[in-house]
Amino acid sequence: DTDSSDLFGPLLDKPVAAVVPVLVPLPVPGPYSYAVPEGLTVVPGSVVQVPVGPRQMIGVVWDGADDSTLDPKKLRPITLAFDCPPLSKEMRDFVDWVSAYTLSPPGFVARMAIRAPAALDPEPMVEGLRFVGGEPARLTPARTRVLDLAKEQEAPWTRSGLAHAAGVSLSVVDGLIKQGVFDTIFLPPPPVVARPDPDYTAPRIEGPQKGAAEEIVASVSAGGFAASLIDGVTGSGKTEVYFEAIAQALRQDKQVLILLPEIALTSSFLDRFEQRFGAKPAEWHSDLSPRIREKVWRGVVTGEVRVVAGARSALFLPFEDLGLIVIDEEHDPAYKQEDRVFYNARDMAVVRARIGDFPIVLVSATPSVESQVNGLSGRYTTVHLPTRFGDAALPDLHLVDMRRHPPERGGFLSPILLRGMKKALERGEQSLLFLNRRGYAPLTLCRVCGHRFQCPQCSSWLVEHRFRNQIQCHQCGYHEHTPEACPECGTFDHLVACGPGVERIAEEVEKHFPEARTIVMSSDLLGGVKRLRMELDAIAKGDVDIVIGTQLVAKGHNFPLMTLVGIVDADLGLSNGDPRAAERTFQLLSQVTGRAGRTGLKSHGLIQTFQPQHPVMQAIVSGDAGAFYEREIAEREKAILPPFGRLASLIVSADTRADAETHARGLRAAAPRVTGISVLGPAEAPLALVRGRHRFRLLVHGRRNSDMQAFLKAMMSAGPKVRGTVQIQLDIDPQSF
Ligand code: ADP
Ligand code: ZN
Repeated sequence: DTDSSDLFGPLLDKPVAAVVPVLVPLPVPGPYSYAVPEGLTVVPGSVVQVPVGPRQMIGVVWDGADDSTLDPKKLRPITLAFDCPPLSKEMRDFVDWVSAYTLSPPGFVARMAIRAPAALDPEPMVEGLRFVGGEPARLTPARTRVLDLAKEQEAPWTRSGLAHAAGVSLSVVDGLIKQGVFDTIFLPPPPVVARPDPDYTAPRIEGPQKGAAEEIVASVSAGGFAASLIDGVTGSGKTEVYFEAIAQALRQDKQVLILLPEIALTSSFLDRFEQRFGAKPAEWHSDLSPRIREKVWRGVVTGEVRVVAGARSALFLPFEDLGLIVIDEEHDPAYKQEDRVFYNARDMAVVRARIGDFPIVLVSATPSVESQVNGLSGRYTTVHLPTRFGDAALPDLHLVDMRRHPPERGGFLSPILLRGMKKALERGEQSLLFLNRRGYAPLTLCRVCGHRFQCPQCSSWLVEHRFRNQIQCHQCGYHEHTPEACPECGTFDHLVACGPGVERIAEEVEKHFPEARTIVMSSDLLGGVKRLRMELDAIAKGDVDIVIGTQLVAKGHNFPLMTLVGIVDADLGLSNGDPRAAERTFQLLSQVTGRAGRTGLKSHGLIQTFQPQHPVMQAIVSGDAGAFYEREIAEREKAILPPFGRLASLIVSADTRADAETHARGLRAAAPRVTGISVLGPAEAPLALVRGRHRFRLLVHGRRNSDMQAFLKAMMSAGPKVRGTVQIQLDIDPQSF
């Protein structure tokens, strides 16, 4: 521990009861010592407020012996201890583990697991309705429906709840209030969530699901750490299978965590959970209001909340008694956090289960190479669901060779795809066009002088967004009005859009199918998550004919009428030189095409490509995922790439190119000599300039059993001192390499 007086000066006037180490959210390697004033009780895990320099910070009392050589009188005291349960030993061990593995400051990791209990205003009462009786002067059919419902169910109705349930507009209900048929009352605020009941509905597991469920339920019953992988095609009933595992954990009175990659957009998942368990799980993601966040966090800590469905950050929630983690779409890149603490929630979840000694279930239609290898080696138990549930069949997939079936001039959709869309439209079914590119066009240039619009602070092109009449940088968010004249040669109206984004595809669709109801789904459209949720509902209900979307629509959704999926540019992710590109493209294409035909209607996937012979394309149409993965795994093994070898990336950034490069070279020179570990680079990072910062990258490659963390620590401590504007981002197990 460090003597905190060195940094902040002594400040104690009360008697000292003890000295304790406290982790604060600073980039330092360990806790600082603080004095515990008499009258204050803290234990390891207590969430406290401590002075740090002129500021107050939230910290956690940590483990470790008090350093009795420190003079308590020289230490600053803890300011206050929050009234919330301390972080358990299990969580503290987890934080230490994550910190040691990712080489992130432990205080940063701990900060993800705690919250300063917020003082919130008392929760407002909900305005409700009371049925008084009587009849309105004029009885319309809509009013009758409302009255019948209110007579039938005395439930404390809200205005909108009653209108919704009766299928009438709010004004109908308001009219009845005005007439005195209802009066308004105040209802107490609802609880966070009701308790899910494992036996609310009987399991309806059948066929191949049965064996799979039995195996996984058995591992939950047995308790103790065990990792299972559910490897089943889209629509095979994986969710139903892991619901059985959840039911078993609930019967054993354990809390459950379900991780989902896009939780904010999966309201249908919450409904489905409610149908099975009679109550929704608590949600956890960045789009919650502070009030809900506070309530859920408290509920998790006290055990009132039994099941959380959350984004990756939910992994750091301090559950009172967690007994099962489920990771749906375990292959998804969204599980990787690349900010402050760089971690993969999938991998860290396995660690959490191991430390907590409880089972974990990984789920995917296209498991990551890492998890497949763990399955092959016997570290994970794999269960397979090779066919879709019930009458549903997987879509028929066809490659469209774009060299042989080129689109019309200026277009991007081949005649084959357009024909398929026309047929779907005629049958009253839906089509999805997938293109993983936001905006109108990825590149804008001047036809006269060739000027390209580039972000002033990043090494990336500005992307035209026609709906907003802007050109935007997708790295840093920089944007400006779409210019009318070229800034270089001054010519008006000579800007050309190069290549397609979803908005441009929408334009093409509109031209061909002016009568169709078309929607663009992309994360940058106005209205945020609320609007996206509504639009997903609208698609599921069949209020839309053609959806043009980015990966936002690729995941997990159930669109009953969707029978055609067109991949506009299947080659998009293949050419970036990343060894993971093939795996990622295979996963994405399988997921997207898997949106089609989930309810038994005959369905198709049309995949536009210029490389129909590419192994990924061949794997997709042959449906032989096994052979594809076998090759991928063999190639990784040969090249000693993860999971057969280890990788870390160090990005050195600075305000000037020279500073970044000099520092990176200095680090390289400081690398210790260790057999089995080598350093590549430095080279300009794939994004050489981001937000005005120049970036160089070092890649560290090691054999599987090498101690990467020790190597990196040695290199950084022997390397040049980090000063000026230099920053280092250390990423263990980088996503792309
Ligand atoms: P996956 O998670 O593998 O994509 P789902 O669990 O979503 O598959 O199942 C696909 C569809 O089949 C869903 O509409 C689901 O309701 C239905 N389904 C799956 N298993 C059952 C079952 N045992 N009984 C009834 N319907 C089921
Ligand atoms: Zn930028």
